[in-house]
Amino acid sequence: MTTQSQSLRLADQLAANPYTWPGGYPLYAITSDGGALCKECVKSERESIGTTTGTDGWCVVAVEANWEDPALYCDHCGKRIESAYAEPPEPNLVLSDSHGRYIPQLWCADVTESDAERLGLSWWDVQQCQAGPDAEHYWEAWGGILRDCVMTDENGVTWRLHQDGDLWEVADGYEFPED
Ligand SMILES: [Zn+2]
Repeated sequence: MTTQSQSLRLADQLAANPYTWPGGYPLYAITSDGGALCKECVKSERESIGTTTGTDGWCVVAVEANWEDPALYCDHCGKRIESAYAEPPEPNLVLSDSHGRYIPQLWCADVTESDAERLGLSWWDVQQCQAGPDAEHYWEAWGGILRDCVMTDENGVTWRLHQDGDLWEVADGYEFPED
């Protein structure tokens, strides 16, 4: 079998069966240069894969399960490739949007100066939000907090804040659906 036809056969196999059977574990393609391709790209880039020179990054040499790499990314589209055992936890709802413009003030209410330091926050930003929605730099300060806040839990999972009306804590690696 030629390099091209083997590459294409593996790509088509992944496109048709992106999960192991039995087991249902997520599969991805490995290229000759050690890259990873997701189940979508083996379909959309089928032509490149079937005409690979063998060294152009499109030569699929294996299809394997991603057991527990939470940070495995497709080298073509950049999307994260799901894993069997290391999926990020679901987001936590912190404050619903019914709290409206008081969300920053409520979230910051119990944050102390040492909390702020631990979370990577500017203490000045926290104080602006604690002062309430009429503080001059309230929204600017809240923007800084949404950007900077990083929390690591006892399992080593990193969480960040995300606001889409509701305020959420979102684990790194979790892809929040776009509205
Ligand atoms: Zn991809």
